[in-house]
Amino acid sequence: MSKLSVRDLEVEDKRVLVRVDFNVPLEEEGGSYIVSDDTRIRESLLTINHLRQRGAKVILMSHLGRPKGQKVEKYSLRPAGQRLSELLGMPVAFSTECIGDVPQKITAHMRKGDVTLLENVRFHPEEEANDPAFARGLAELGDIYVDDAFGSAHRAHASTEGVARILPAAAGFLMEKELQFLGEKLENPERPFVVVLGGAKVSDKITVIDSLLDRADTILIGGAMAYTFYLAQGCSVGASLCEPEKIGIAKAALKKAEERDVKFLLPVDSYVAENVDLKGRKMSPGKFVEQIPNGWVGVDIGPETVRKFRGEILGARTIFWNGPMGIFEIGECSKGTFAIAEAIGANAEAISIVGGGDSVKAVRRAGMADRVTFISTGGGASLELLEGKELPGVAALATQEVS
Ligand code: AMP
Repeated sequence: MSKLSVRDLEVEDKRVLVRVDFNVPLEEEGGSYIVSDDTRIRESLLTINHLRQRGAKVILMSHLGRPKGQKVEKYSLRPAGQRLSELLGMPVAFSTECIGDVPQKITAHMRKGDVTLLENVRFHPEEEANDPAFARGLAELGDIYVDDAFGSAHRAHASTEGVARILPAAAGFLMEKELQFLGEKLENPERPFVVVLGGAKVSDKITVIDSLLDRADTILIGGAMAYTFYLAQGCSVGASLCEPEKIGIAKAALKKAEERDVKFLLPVDSYVAENVDLKGRKMSPGKFVEQIPNGWVGVDIGPETVRKFRGEILGARTIFWNGPMGIFEIGECSKGTFAIAEAIGANAEAISIVGGGDSVKAVRRAGMADRVTFISTGGGASLELLEGKELPGVAALATQEVS
């Protein structure tokens, strides 16, 4: 059932409490902090401006980093407020507290179209504990709640779930788009539906693999994850990162793929090195191999794999990609990941959806961001949605009335 959207709300002269995702990277400069990447702030402008233009008083709340329930200056949202003010071209009031007298006084003086940003909700341990009194304290600041922070929707926190249970609650534009693409578009995908999964661990993604095996036509596996599948097939993995204790679940996924007639492709070649220093982002000279020699570490997919995966991607009508094909952090091992980004961008016919930090970075750095249909902002949240789980922050939103 579709969720109530911000576009359906009557907000004139109302205090609208919006949960945004201003969890942005900060950089120290001359003793204070500045926002080093304002993408998330820019993305929230759609919802903020929509509300302002309709005469709402906009009260924003967010988390930033992991201050663990303490007031920690380097996690203050003040720099995000300054950046927002620049982007909006108007003053944005900053409340040094997110509940209590301070924000109540500030919000009491707001006029239509004004914007106030509350301090980091995670400065209070009650946020992550979803404490009902804390949620009530936040809810007192608004008449209506709008959730535009999809990336936090898989957590039942006070600012995502608690408040939504108290106030009339709707989805912001970003949230709505995530639900539309990850929910609706991938529920009944246009075929062929090709899924590309990579990253470190099978165990992190097995539930999503299981769920996608019910829907996908082809699943392409790269990254260290592939090596656990190699083990399940009795292939050599050398000293590659893998999870021998997960061979059972890997075998079950391979069996399910066969039963469902899903093409389940593993790398046919790898880029390998004898020594890899992840922290120092260094490695000994690498080479391409079909079978990983003893003592060598698989660090990326090889050219023949890229060729095969690219062919599948170019023939797709729906594509979903999550997770790098190799140790993306080391430039020399990022070629496979970039090749996937490029192939996805090259398929202009398909609906393409990319999620997860490294894959999104690769798509952006490859200059393909504009050629991808949708970039999901929520790593964990997008995987949980694909697994078919109900996200607490989404479940708490009101459903749309069908007239
Ligand atoms: P995930 O968060 O599960 O998407 O995993 C991302 C991480 O997987 C990145 O930090 C990559 O460096 C890592 N990764 C991908 N391929 C490999 C590999 N072959 N060996 C070790 N780590 C890998």
